[in-house]
Amino acid sequence: MTSTQTSTQHLENLDNQLLEWIIVGAGPAGIAGLGKLLDAGVSPEKILWIDPLFKVGDFGSSWKYISSNTPVEGFTKFFHRCQSFSYKPASMIDNLPPEKNCPLILAAQPLQTITNHLKTLVHTELDTVTQIRPLDIANYLNPHWAITLNSGKVFHTKKLLLAMGGQPKEVNFPWIPSIPLSMAMDPNLLKKSLSPEDTVMVFGSAQSAKSILGHLKSIKLKKKVLFYRSSTSFDRHIDSESLEGVLALKITPKNLLAQMPSCTKTISAIGFKRRHIPIIGLPDDYGYDQETGEIAPGIFGLGMAFPNIMYHELGLAEYRVAALWPVMKRLEKLLPEWLSSPTQTVLMSEEKNIFKNQNQARDLKKSEVESLSSPYVTADLGTPDLLVV
Ligand SMILES: Cc1cc2nc3c(=O)[nH]c(=O)nc-3n(C[C@H](O)[C@H](O)[C@H](O)COP(=O)(O)OP(=O)(O)OC[C@H]3O[C@@H](n4cnc5c(N)ncnc54)[C@H](O)[C@@H]3O)c2cc1C
Repeated sequence: MTSTQTSTQHLENLDNQLLEWIIVGAGPAGIAGLGKLLDAGVSPEKILWIDPLFKVGDFGSSWKYISSNTPVEGFTKFFHRCQSFSYKPASMIDNLPPEKNCPLILAAQPLQTITNHLKTLVHTELDTVTQIRPLDIANYLNPHWAITLNSGKVFHTKKLLLAMGGQPKEVNFPWIPSIPLSMAMDPNLLKKSLSPEDTVMVFGSAQSAKSILGHLKSIKLKKKVLFYRSSTSFDRHIDSESLEGVLALKITPKNLLAQMPSCTKTISAIGFKRRHIPIIGLPDDYGYDQETGEIAPGIFGLGMAFPNIMYHELGLAEYRVAALWPVMKRLEKLLPEWLSSPTQTVLMSEEKNIFKNQNQARDLKKSEVESLSSPYVTADLGTPDLLVV
């Protein structure tokens, strides 16, 4: 019997089973999470993987035309890091110099091959998770979870990995048309959405903003303005070559008021916020333990939606960009704890309410990281020193 047949057979009565793990999201973080769980010996028959498309997440769609800021080696090491990926070098990226950068699409192709292979091993649902709720609140030391899908199906699991990625944040000027970031990152779509009469304002000062300026270079426009908030980020990412023909201004009310009347299109490249999946019992903007990735007992977060914080000297802190190789390394660090602990580190047994404890634990962390407790993934206009892609 093939693994596909096994999977189909068990799927029929999956809704009556208590699963070991459900993985939400099939972007790079979900792929890595599933690969490592299988490598650790979790039975594939006890795993359900959920994604609306299984097309390598935003990495394989919105960002595929971006040039990587990590070397080819970071991608190929990722492909080989899990035995369960069964990766055989046969893609264009395998012949590129390891130290060079490449368009993300070259890394997305092998990730799609890996996804297709993993789909034959575990149960999958082509759907979206709409709600997570505790199944057995009385059993607070070892809670189980009920996961509801858009289709109305409900599955029960002991543990969950949330890897649902993030959405670009937007500067809001309702009276000026905005070009979505995913469109601005595609040179052809960007060109089609602009005319020579346009005055374009780009907001941001990191890699995305730099890519957009690169794409705008070959497009004839009336005026190009870059608004940035963080001088540190601006100095680090935006070079003089990117600024040819561009007016770069720090965001101040005066500068905005002077430029906005002539603006016909805006592009926001100011960071990402986590996609939301409600967890009953937690506040809407639920946090996570930066050290363990834990959101609630048995629920863990990884990838773009749950980045870890990197501290520098003199108190500067950044959210680590959820690039493929750092995600794999973080996972390897966290997974043993996720596997071994039915609950987790922050739960205090004498307390009856898991969520109260979770919030208390988060508050403690909050005081440690102060202004960094925001659930948002990367920098925005209010958090200038955080890393943004
Ligand atoms: C500008 C930019 C530059 C980048 N450069 C690099 C680079 O140089 N090197 C590098 O390694 N990486 C780079 N990345 C990609 C980086 O690795 C991203 O962080 C990565 O795409 C995030 O992976 P993820 O799995 O966390 O999220 P995603 O890729 O967004 O995947 C999330 C998946 O979850 C699914 N999902 C969401 N909500 C639900 C739900 N409710 N139910 C079920 N499924 C759901 C989504 O449909 C999606 O398929 C870049 C990204 C950007 C934006």
